[in-house]
Amino acid sequence: MTRHTHVAIIGSGPAGLTAAIYTARANLAPIVIEGEISSTSDQPGGQLMLTTEIENFPGFINGIEGPELMSNFRSQAERFGAEFHTAKVTRIDASNRPFAIWTSDQGDGDASYLADAIIVATGARSIMLGVDREIELIGHGVSTCATCDGFFFRGQEIAVVGGGDSAMEEATFLTKFASKVHIIHRRSELRASKIMQDRARANPKISFTWNSRVVELIGGDQLEGVVLEDTITGERSKLAVTGLFVAIGHEPNTSVFEGILDMDGARYIVTHDGTNTSVEGIFACGDVQDHIYRQAITAAGSGCMAALDTERWLESVHAG
Ligand code: NAP
Repeated sequence: MTRHTHVAIIGSGPAGLTAAIYTARANLAPIVIEGEISSTSDQPGGQLMLTTEIENFPGFINGIEGPELMSNFRSQAERFGAEFHTAKVTRIDASNRPFAIWTSDQGDGDASYLADAIIVATGARSIMLGVDREIELIGHGVSTCATCDGFFFRGQEIAVVGGGDSAMEEATFLTKFASKVHIIHRRSELRASKIMQDRARANPKISFTWNSRVVELIGGDQLEGVVLEDTITGERSKLAVTGLFVAIGHEPNTSVFEGILDMDGARYIVTHDGTNTSVEGIFACGDVQDHIYRQAITAAGSGCMAALDTERWLESVHAG
């Protein structure tokens, strides 16, 4: 059965849930299509569900666990009447308004929703190495965010995987805390821009491990080291590190919007004048349209913007 809604919010990380709180308080009765648990790092609540302690989200003097923060966001949205639907969006028809949305639990027949406006908040995912126990050890030595977790590695020896600007930036940042940072790269040449390379190479706390890939994570509940494989000789060696920062790139979750919304070369949704996308009535917020800041607080801020943009747009359409 197809239901009509004023606002469908796709995604339930800090951006989607902030948009839900604001649109719910504006009496728009939003439906949040929150995603569903899949085998990858993908789930309702977004990337913070994979984080342990968050110390830089304002308002929590002693920090808060990622899942607890997201559960609070969700309860706050529910308190004002936001409704949640645990499923993935599989298809959208944006050629007419209201927009039609199909979800994973309803097959290819009738659309699940007809929405006057859509807020896209599907986020991005860190590309992971694909080694055993990598996801399980996130927050226990494995991290995808130096800004978020660097502080926990004071005085420790750690490693960063990758040879791009992100890896150089993260490694350089991490030297503020760590005693030593190993950059592990699968080739003998970096992809990073010269300035970022030079900065990393000049840092006495950074050393490079070339032609190497991480093939195993060592440790019980907490990371104690990694097994490296030489990409040329195949030889294996152990490196004792208590932290492993995976910095091999990010991927926005935009496949369902392909051909519908304008995207940049890296497939992030392009927004203009706040959170407007290339389709009138569809707004985007959070990491799905931001590859620069990628913080919970910036995602939440843009979720608020998307809600206000949506509210104003709906008012203008109904008034017109
Ligand atoms: P990137 O440029 O795509 O680099 C990814 C790096 O990870 C590459 O060195 C790649 O190795 C390596 N890699 C990819 N898959 C791997 C795997 N499975 N195992 C091991 N290594 C793997 O990504 P990025 O560094 O995140 O940068 C993305 C974009 O953002 C770039 O345009 C970058 O310039 C920009 N950026 C800019 C700044 C800044 O200016 N401050 C900071 C961060 C990012 P290969 O080199 O062998 O392919």
